[in-house]
Amino acid sequence: MRLQGAETLRLSEVGSSLVETRDKAKLRQQLTPLQYDVCINKGTERPFTGEYWDNHEPGVYACVVCGKELFASGTKFDSGTGWPSFWEPVDRESVREEEDRSLFMRRTEVVCANCGSHLGHVFDDGPRPTGLRYCINSASLRFRRG
Ligand code: FE
Repeated sequence: MRLQGAETLRLSEVGSSLVETRDKAKLRQQLTPLQYDVCINKGTERPFTGEYWDNHEPGVYACVVCGKELFASGTKFDSGTGWPSFWEPVDRESVREEEDRSLFMRRTEVVCANCGSHLGHVFDDGPRPTGLRYCINSASLRFRRG
């Protein structure tokens, strides 16, 4: 879903979210250009360039837009992809999945359940116990140690 209109963000056709109702100007102030491109325009940071792909500190990864806690360090694993990878979110309600048919692929997009910010995609080639691989942009996250 592309951005529509000058004032309003429409990241999703279903439901409403903070990201949809916040105006673009505020988000541009709040976020870096890269964060904005990833979170709002559903972009993807280049692999091995983000802040967290190689972070092994204990802590929690929160949504960079709204602050909701999304992933915990205990479920992070080295996927070799160059993006932070997790085998599950902190809880099932913290993220929402949406079908993504862009780029001639069929993928499952993952967004923050609280604000609708784009996070990345989830694949079914992850490790135990879930077999899932949440492939998440560092730019969508803010790490809190502890
Ligand atoms: Fe959020």
